[in-house]
Amino acid sequence: MATQADQKSPKHQPQSLEDARARMLAQLVPVTMPERVALRDALDRVLGADVVANVTVPAYTNSAMDGYAVRGADLPAAGEARLRVIGQSFAGHPFTGALAAGECVRIMTGAVMPRAADTVVIQEDVNRDGDLARIGTGHRVGQHVRQAGEDIAQGATVLTAGRRIRVADIGLLASIGWVEVAVRRRLRVAFFSTGDELRPLGEPLREGEIHDSNRYTLYGMLRHFGADTLDLGVVRDEPQALREAFQQAGADADVVITSGGVSVGAADYIRSVLAEVGEIGFWKVNMKPGKPIAFGRLQGGATFFGLPGNPVSAMVTFYQVVQPALDRLAGAEPRTPLALRVRATGALKKGSNRREFQRGILETGADGELGVRSAAPQGSGILHSMSQANCFIVLPEDSGPVKPGELVRVEPFAGWM
Ligand code: AMP
Ligand code: MG
Repeated sequence: MATQADQKSPKHQPQSLEDARARMLAQLVPVTMPERVALRDALDRVLGADVVANVTVPAYTNSAMDGYAVRGADLPAAGEARLRVIGQSFAGHPFTGALAAGECVRIMTGAVMPRAADTVVIQEDVNRDGDLARIGTGHRVGQHVRQAGEDIAQGATVLTAGRRIRVADIGLLASIGWVEVAVRRRLRVAFFSTGDELRPLGEPLREGEIHDSNRYTLYGMLRHFGADTLDLGVVRDEPQALREAFQQAGADADVVITSGGVSVGAADYIRSVLAEVGEIGFWKVNMKPGKPIAFGRLQGGATFFGLPGNPVSAMVTFYQVVQPALDRLAGAEPRTPLALRVRATGALKKGSNRREFQRGILETGADGELGVRSAAPQGSGILHSMSQANCFIVLPEDSGPVKPGELVRVEPFAGWM
């Protein structure tokens, strides 16, 4: 667990994002127990146990095309074979007999292959003459047939515990006849904003006040994550108010997230209250935006994250630091974002020696090539450019400014935030 000693060691050196993530994940274990839900409700949930197929898919060997089911031995080496059509096998209406030499069966896609048939000749390649099917050369024994079990073998592990269930997965589970799925209970996440300058929506702003936007982005990020949320509003920068908020939040949440008050200039009693209510470390992570972040555990056992107050910093630290931790707590494998190497179409500034997560716009240029440019003002308070952006441009600690045409690492938001 993080301790107060983290504040001092080692010599206030910021830690790398990888170290911060690794240290954090090492302290976290899944908190949520499995529950059973109907298949449709399993979408986007975390699978609680491995799924082992108790059937094969397909259950029977069937045709992949509309045509004629034949015996491979009857295919002509030269000239033409004339096979007698002795019946039909349609999807849902199998042919019950078996083929003898010189016989074939009219068959549709998905229909059961008749016994002794091993090959399908598509209907475009067959000339029908009354009850005779005339088939030429150029066919391969076994063509256009789907073998029983070629998708899923009986006893195969189809999906593993910890997976976030996707659209194709619920189709896959339906294909093996699963009515219900064991998923992890959703994480319960309580959150509040701190700051005397914050006004709830619906109230006019007075001089020096701003609307609280972080509670809205936090709500959105947590909803996308798939957590149950408990919004505790704005808490004033007062020890007693903070103490009560932490008590309420920690009482029935797995995770408590706050924004504001974690930077170096923050009022001291925030730190002292946190020291009273749990074991909290203040971490400096070598990233921009978002250097200061608090992490630890409240007395009741809830995991705590204190995000910086600047709206973009709060979002960046959520995705880079908090989300992998939530994944772990929720019993899922921590996600890694898709990373692309893309040409910068314009120059990119870089002033710090921290890893920078710049807001970028990834787009296909007139030349048909993917390119990325800055979503413009990169100040950590500028939410507008976050709203315009569709990706992070990730510039490493040791890199300098980027010239147009250079390759940069890009992490698209699609499917991620
Ligand atoms: P802090 O981390 O509390 O020092 O705040 C840093 C900056 O973020 C200040 O400009 C705050 O006014 C602003 N800020 C803090 N909390 C919020 C919030 N919930 N919504 C919007 N801005 C915030
Ligand atoms: Mg503040």
